[in-house]
Amino acid sequence: MIITEDFARKAILEVAPLVEDIGKLKTELDNYEIHVKNIPSQASYLPPFKLFSFNNALSGNKVYLKSVISHELFHNAQFSTIKDLWKRHLNINQISSKQLENRSSLTKLIEGDATFVEMEVEKVLQNNILARQFDRLKFPKYYKSWENILRKKFSGKRKDINELYTAPIEELNKIFKSD
Ligand SMILES: [Zn+2]
Repeated sequence: MIITEDFARKAILEVAPLVEDIGKLKTELDNYEIHVKNIPSQASYLPPFKLFSFNNALSGNKVYLKSVISHELFHNAQFSTIKDLWKRHLNINQISSKQLENRSSLTKLIEGDATFVEMEVEKVLQNNILARQFDRLKFPKYYKSWENILRKKFSGKRKDINELYTAPIEELNKIFKSD
């Protein structure tokens, strides 16, 4: 199926409890907006406007679409819960590279962790592995490596991972330092 605004709206409400349970951060879903249109990526979330955008060509089975939505929904939880995260994100990314693989360690944490939550939601929703791997060809490969760093280093312990959001950038630089 291809994503629609109606599907996304229902899926957000459906996966919100899962995202919160897995990520141990609260979502904030008053007055959010959903756009389904032609955008450069598959999906994005813009914290100041609580705006979820989905590519109008985004398609796959329902579980796959719900896990993509979970990733964006966890961004909502990250930026709603952690004070000043958006400000820090903007400040740091003004001075760091625009190339995805060289993005700041804070971006790596934000994206790696959203990917972590996305994958865990997907497991719960019991996706078809083969369908998923096919769909995953469109997935930015760096996200997965950042997720793996978090998984390995913290064995998926949410308390430790969530503490990183307020850790000094130097600590994040050490964790995401490429080998
Ligand atoms: Zn993301």
